[in-house]
Amino acid sequence: MLKIEHLKKWFGDLEVLKDINLEVKRGEVVVIIGASGSGKSTLLRCINFLEKAQKGKIYVNGKQVRQQEKQLNKVRQGLGMVFQHFNLFPHMTVIGNVMEGMIHVKNMPKEKAREKALELLEQVGLSDKADIYPAMISGGQKQRVAIARALAMEPEIMLFDEPTSALDPELVGEVLSVMTDLANKGMTMLVVTHEMWFAKEVADRVIFMDDGIILEEAPPEEMFSAPKEERTLAFLKQVL
Ligand code: ATP
Ligand code: MG
Repeated sequence: MLKIEHLKKWFGDLEVLKDINLEVKRGEVVVIIGASGSGKSTLLRCINFLEKAQKGKIYVNGKQVRQQEKQLNKVRQGLGMVFQHFNLFPHMTVIGNVMEGMIHVKNMPKEKAREKALELLEQVGLSDKADIYPAMISGGQKQRVAIARALAMEPEIMLFDEPTSALDPELVGEVLSVMTDLANKGMTMLVVTHEMWFAKEVADRVIFMDDGIILEEAPPEEMFSAPKEERTLAFLKQVL
């Protein structure tokens, strides 16, 4: 589904990703953990071509994606991205936000887009909020709208970058629960999070990033009970 080979990324002289190799199989949920500045966001942004890596190859469904490709928009459609800050359009209603891409990117007729958007809002538990504006809903609800909006593009894989870290603690659960549902439905997911509960319960595999490399990867039960690397252990001691 997604394969990354020898990815390297510098910002000026600073090498932020140092030879990253990673594969995510269809239906797999992979959680990335690691200290601040270890390169987690940069990795997701390179996968989505929001940043350009200097070296390495990225394959989506066995096909190499190139930066200059005219197909880039199409590739991005296949990669749903959810960020820490929800970036909803404030001047559009909740359902308007979810419909936007279906109408303007997928060229779907308005009525059909509305129908699909309502289904998605139902899925994230927000069908009763369809016609109000983002300013009127909570952070957790905004993030669920952002998830519905990403799903509207029918992505093959969902990339999440700390989707709950801007939320008040009492709102984290509702977003993780939507993500858990999604995982149980078989969505392929690559998730950066500090929510170790989610990693333990939902991930098929956990990746520990340290200073621009993948230092260790293992199924969650192994990673959390018997990490192999000293630095993984030190990190887990801090967060668990
Ligand atoms: P966090 O947990 O705090 O989100 P992260 O693991 O996501 O951290 P990145 O945001 O990927 O880390 O940053 C990795 C390194 O790259 C850091 O040293 C950061 O300062 C640097 N960096 C990130 N974006 C840029 C940029 N646009 N220009 C210069 N340096 C950058
Ligand atoms: Mg980050």
